[in-house]
Amino acid sequence: MSTKFQVENTSGNARLGRLITPHGVVETPVFMPVGTLASVKGVPQEILEELAIEIVLANTYHLYLRPGIETVRKLGGLHRFMAWPRAILTDSGGFQVFSLNDLRKVNEEGVTFRSHLDGSSHFLSPESAMAAQIGLGADVIMAFDECAEYPAEKARGRQSMELTLRWAERSKRYFEQHKEEVPWGAQKSALATETDVAVGKTAHGQKAPRQGKHQSLFAIVQGGMDPELRRESAQRTIEIGFPGYAIGGLSVGEPRSLTREIVESTVEHLPKDKPRYLMGVGTPEEIVQYANLGIDMMDCVLPTRAARHGLLFTSEGKISIKQARYATDEQPLDSNCGCRVCRRYSRAYLRHLYASNEVLAQVLNTVHNLSFYLDTMRAVRHSIRLGARVQSASADRTEE
Ligand SMILES: [Zn+2]
Repeated sequence: MSTKFQVENTSGNARLGRLITPHGVVETPVFMPVGTLASVKGVPQEILEELAIEIVLANTYHLYLRPGIETVRKLGGLHRFMAWPRAILTDSGGFQVFSLNDLRKVNEEGVTFRSHLDGSSHFLSPESAMAAQIGLGADVIMAFDECAEYPAEKARGRQSMELTLRWAERSKRYFEQHKEEVPWGAQKSALATETDVAVGKTAHGQKAPRQGKHQSLFAIVQGGMDPELRRESAQRTIEIGFPGYAIGGLSVGEPRSLTREIVESTVEHLPKDKPRYLMGVGTPEEIVQYANLGIDMMDCVLPTRAARHGLLFTSEGKISIKQARYATDEQPLDSNCGCRVCRRYSRAYLRHLYASNEVLAQVLNTVHNLSFYLDTMRAVRHSIRLGARVQSASADRTEE
């Protein structure tokens, strides 16, 4: 078995669900923190657990370059390597190649690109992106796709969509032939058991080896900013058949109203009984809106990256903690937040840490922002359970 998805309740288009993975249950709609290099920057795994984070995202492109797929595979896969017994999703690397490489060359076979670390030349194809993600061993992995730039002509949008469809077929074929090779899968379970149990016991109380369990391969719907291409991409991707569908190619510089329009016009063509993953969004207000549109999974670097720049989301709007006005402010960052940072520290102290460039500033700011995002999604799930329309968080209001 691989992942299973159950819709438990709906309210309008919003769905309350459970994504059951080989490494635990994920309640949806879910916001997935980004741990690019197998680390949510600045936050130890035990605090991620304390925040009740059930799934994190890691980036195949970055891990492929450093420390390398083979290294992670030999160490038992990402879960064991990073001592994280809960669920993980990896992207295919396609988007990072797209966004970090001006010199990439795309052809039918795959993408040639240069490392952003040392300029060395690399090649990723649907097959090698699957091999990499099988080696990393995340619970949910993504088909290799190509993302059209914004703005793009319609012909370019179609070409990119067609290529993504062919790559989705190749991704699925390779995955089906090689899915037993996952580090924690059937073949490796005898070897993995002892350490799995050790990690599970210390970190999460999980004991079961995972014989016979597989990763799940989700596909990505493309089609640029054209609703017709999006519909066609959705329908033809569904014909190939996957256990989950992502909406890719958004948040690439288009206005937010257009993002929303394309999400709406894509979601209506996706199956009701499969998880829907909107990649790379958004603000606290946006993730509530997208959950309302029927999105089940989201990820974004915003809460963690903003935190490292001193930008904090609170129930009363955004706060830039670097401002001098907080230098003697003894209030908690957000008096409505129960996170370990707001319970203990003052704005004045957080401002001092940030102004002094202390490492602890990044840690505490990130813990609060993640906590705020997790609370936001918890409130969304509660509203769906009650059948109420989901209220949006007020965090997008910027403080004057
Ligand atoms: Zn807090």
